[in-house]
Amino acid sequence: MVSIKTFRQSLAAALPGLELRDNEPMARHTTFRVGGPVTLMALPRSVEELGAVVALAKKAGIEPFFLGRGSNLLVADQGADAFVVKLAGGLDRLELDGPSGMYVGAGVTLAQAAVYALEHALTGLEFAHGIPGTMGGGVFMNAGAYDGELSQVIRWADCLDESGNLLRLEGKDLALGYRTSVFTQKPWVITGARLDLTPGDPAAIREKMTDLARRRRSKQPLDLPSAGSTFKRPPGHFAGALIQEAGLKGARIGGAQVSEKHAGFVVNTGGATSDDILSLIRLVRDTVLDKAGVLLEPEVRMLGCHL
Ligand SMILES: Cc1cc2nc3c(=O)[nH]c(=O)nc-3n(C[C@H](O)[C@H](O)[C@H](O)COP(=O)(O)OP(=O)(O)OC[C@H]3O[C@@H](n4cnc5c(N)ncnc54)[C@H](O)[C@@H]3O)c2cc1C
Repeated sequence: MVSIKTFRQSLAAALPGLELRDNEPMARHTTFRVGGPVTLMALPRSVEELGAVVALAKKAGIEPFFLGRGSNLLVADQGADAFVVKLAGGLDRLELDGPSGMYVGAGVTLAQAAVYALEHALTGLEFAHGIPGTMGGGVFMNAGAYDGELSQVIRWADCLDESGNLLRLEGKDLALGYRTSVFTQKPWVITGARLDLTPGDPAAIREKMTDLARRRRSKQPLDLPSAGSTFKRPPGHFAGALIQEAGLKGARIGGAQVSEKHAGFVVNTGGATSDDILSLIRLVRDTVLDKAGVLLEPEVRMLGCHL
């Protein structure tokens, strides 16, 4: 394995058009608005360019970290000696596929995809409208809300394996479960997904999206930076209720706080460090384990840090 700095030279030489950023601060790329610099970030503009990046990284023995909109990600204050490949700018194919299907590139936001479905009178994706991530990040996590989740509408997903070969996965090969997929186990990058939706009434679709947005605004601290639900829902419980019952609603470490509005969210009240957020997550996990005997597992992914 070569160093990421050495790899940068071969990458720039092989792909002169590729946008590269050195020591890129991750606070710019996460909805928590925290995180120090990563050694190198690449921003490929197409599946072909992404494939070349992936293949070159494999040759150099470097495992890339794939980034969407960073809406489910905590990055260490000191950053990470990592090679991050940001996908939100490219991979933006969004088109109808058959009478009630859609192809959605991994860089398309879930909100854009839901609006596109509405514009084409297709129902089934309303739940995803308020989830502030990309289709790639959504497939990775099998994102869901209000009784909907992507597993209900994905027919297949395209990805590149670690050598840059294009694979199409469907059914059980996707291993979609509660906030999990095959991609949490394999170092593969999702490039897009084919969704199966249903013809519907645009007025009803819009009404459902508006209703879900209203419910989100009334229950979630959308005015403060966060990464959504901090913990996965433990079987038989709700994380937010357990945290509230443990007396932790409003608990603070530095600028990080268990939201007063929804105890399932840790928020950055301004000036939080990644360490503040991590320490608060640990405090919540340990206190809930102590008081309720339930081990909360973080839903938020981490780069350069761990619990
Ligand atoms: C206010 C708020 C509300 C939220 N509400 C919800 C909700 O209701 N339901 C829900 O499920 N989530 C919710 N989230 C969390 C988050 O938006 C989702 O998990 C989303 O799917 C993450 O997408 P992303 O593009 O931001 O991924 P990122 O945060 O960039 O990445 C998350 C993980 O996915 C991997 N990844 C990203 N793209 C790819 C790719 N193309 N190929 C392979 N791996 C990839 C990353 O390596 C990382 O491990 C919320 C977040 C916020 C801030």
